[in-house]
Amino acid sequence: MAGGGIAGMAASLAATRAGWHATVFERAPVFSEVGAGVQLGPNVTRILQAWGLSDALQQVAAFPSGLHARSLTTGEVLATLPLTDAVQTYGAPYVTIHRADLHGLLLQAAAHAGVQVHSDAVVQRAHLSPDAVQLEVMQHGQLQHHTGAAAVAADGVWSPLRQQLLGDGLPNFTGHIAYRALVAQQALPAHLRSHDVQVWMGSQAHVVCYPVRGGEYLNVVCLAEGRLLDDEAHNLQALQTWNAQKSEAQTLAELHHALRGACAPLADLMAACSDWRLWPLCGRPAMQGAHQHAQGRMALVGDAAHPMLPYLAQGAGMAIEDAAELALQLRQATAADVPQRLQQFAQARWQRNARVQARAVRNGQIFHATGPMRVGRDMGLRLMGAKLMDVPWLYGYQRS
Ligand SMILES: Cc1cc2nc3c(=O)[nH]c(=O)nc-3n(C[C@H](O)[C@H](O)[C@H](O)COP(=O)(O)OP(=O)(O)OC[C@H]3O[C@@H](n4cnc5c(N)ncnc54)[C@H](O)[C@@H]3O)c2cc1C
Repeated sequence: MAGGGIAGMAASLAATRAGWHATVFERAPVFSEVGAGVQLGPNVTRILQAWGLSDALQQVAAFPSGLHARSLTTGEVLATLPLTDAVQTYGAPYVTIHRADLHGLLLQAAAHAGVQVHSDAVVQRAHLSPDAVQLEVMQHGQLQHHTGAAAVAADGVWSPLRQQLLGDGLPNFTGHIAYRALVAQQALPAHLRSHDVQVWMGSQAHVVCYPVRGGEYLNVVCLAEGRLLDDEAHNLQALQTWNAQKSEAQTLAELHHALRGACAPLADLMAACSDWRLWPLCGRPAMQGAHQHAQGRMALVGDAAHPMLPYLAQGAGMAIEDAAELALQLRQATAADVPQRLQQFAQARWQRNARVQARAVRNGQIFHATGPMRVGRDMGLRLMGAKLMDVPWLYGYQRS
């Protein structure tokens, strides 16, 4: 397994549960996740439950009761999707969780299941043959070779293994930037605290906030369409940074511009946050075929295979679904079966991932609508409410 993020830890845990020995190589010196939240729909928590992680989730996640779509300028709640209904409708809860907590519970479960994890281990190349796959790994500065029946590239949006396997170049900067902050609810005045998911939709920007760490903190993210300065847009290193920080003054000026006209409570919430981190969003077009998910003895999972805009809140979710499918296909397989089983995995996954990628782009257009489209959106939400916000084909998905 190349990469020990959410995709790598989920896939190694799932493969081990399916009876395989898994080894994870992570290039970072320590296994960790950067600080921000993720939402997990019932399609994802259903899998975590099946992996025996309900109790662990209960301890660290928050369980919001609703998702409120609001106007950024007036603050009006245009529609609410009741999230507590998820258990009844889809058989599993809708949760919000700090990424480090999700990563931590996967890592702990994987280690407990017998997954071997190596940090400071950079996977440089994969050599595929009909009978085996060999990874070249730079471990603590020394080149090592590891041979196995299958290799999984879970090395993120900039995946070097994808570039080796598919040769389809680097991802593109989408022109969208995420600004994120974490604030203790206790530090906020009562009217700004929230235990629900709130989405304020503006022009070419929106803000989403939700509780994490059992509700102790509020994760606040502003997603804005904008242009990085030309030199930043062409600076690969700047684009690859997940945790970039500009000067406070510059960040606040950019946020102020993106959220001009924001209603008072939202402006107050933004003002109450500090230590903003930037995340330039890079991506690829939606998947076009099974060949982008697996070839021979190598499979791609998570952002390496299908990076997506976060407007459907499903990137980590699709990585976890990939892992569950991989395990389903690898169960009771022999080493000789691996290429065919990975093909079946790819066939089972690529269209769903492509659909989610495309829907995320569309959601962005809806969230950031301007002019008549915005008026229509608001009217539709007022009239149809939850019906417009629910996504049964996404949340109701089940395999196994
Ligand atoms: C603002 C924002 C909000 C989001 N919100 C949500 C949400 O609400 N819900 C949701 O489901 N998803 C959300 N996502 C998406 C989600 O964060 C990603 O889809 C998910 O983290 C991808 O995980 P990954 O393991 O595939 O990639 P990564 O997290 O990028 O992990 C890749 C790992 O591989 C390692 N690596 C890279 N190269 C090598 C190498 N050569 N050798 C060894 N290791 C290597 C890296 O160090 C890293 O640890 C959001 C994303 C953003 C930007």
